[in-house]
Amino acid sequence: LVRCENVWKKLGGNDVLKGINLEVGRGEVVSLLGPSGAGKSTLLRCINAIEYIDRGLVYVDDVPVGCEESSGGYMRVSEQRLSRQRADIGMVFQNFNLFPHMSVLQNIIDAPVRVRKEKKSDAIEHAHELIKRVGLPEKANAYPRHLSGGQQQRIAIARALAMRPKLMLFDEPTSALDPYLTNEVLDVIKDLAQSGMTMIIVTHEVRFAREVSDKTTIMGNGKIIEAGDTEQVFSSPSNPIAQDFLSNSL
Ligand code: ATP
Ligand code: MG
Repeated sequence: LVRCENVWKKLGGNDVLKGINLEVGRGEVVSLLGPSGAGKSTLLRCINAIEYIDRGLVYVDDVPVGCEESSGGYMRVSEQRLSRQRADIGMVFQNFNLFPHMSVLQNIIDAPVRVRKEKKSDAIEHAHELIKRVGLPEKANAYPRHLSGGQQQRIAIARALAMRPKLMLFDEPTSALDPYLTNEVLDVIKDLAQSGMTMIIVTHEVRFAREVSDKTTIMGNGKIIEAGDTEQVFSSPSNPIAQDFLSNSL
């Protein structure tokens, strides 16, 4: 479903991504691990074209993201087309990013109604299903400031799912939460994994990564230094930096 081919990205004059190749199959869960500054967030941002890549290609569902073929080369796509591509990719960040002036229900139906042109009644019905799915059916009319961090993050996940994405990207979804609230969010993500959603998860919860993901990719200094089936990567990593990283995080 996702294919990164030789992706390069420079930020502030430095190469942050140096020739990334990554494939994620439909229904697969991939954890993306590695030390701070390795380029994990940047890679996620390139996959949903929040950042343009300098070189290489990112495909989602066999369509190049952010660009299209034109007379033998590639051109950036229009903003309109880009926002339609992004609508297929759900992203959940560390800091929830709910709209503070909107209720839970309004947060969830906003994009489906405005971007996907869903009928409001359908969007509301779907929103109630999703709120139930993340375990907060009684919070539909609450405002974000009245929710705990863990509850806000579960609503942020519901909001991303409301767009019926093909792919979900998580960037350290629990790193702003205390351990108790972390577990309730991880349970929702685990449930989603079991439902067959394709996901890429950046996390410092290395044990969770091992439990939930089919494949694990470890980045270091802008490159992929280890990748493979999760058990294989965890039990016998071949790269010394990956070995160090895993033994210090378990
Ligand atoms: P962390 O685990 O701390 O979140 P990360 O693996 O997500 O790290 P990135 O945020 O992708 O790392 O950053 C990769 C590198 O790019 C870092 O060295 C960072 O300093 C640099 N970087 C990120 N954003 C910018 C920017 N806007 N301008 C310049 N350099 C940047
Ligand atoms: Mg990051």
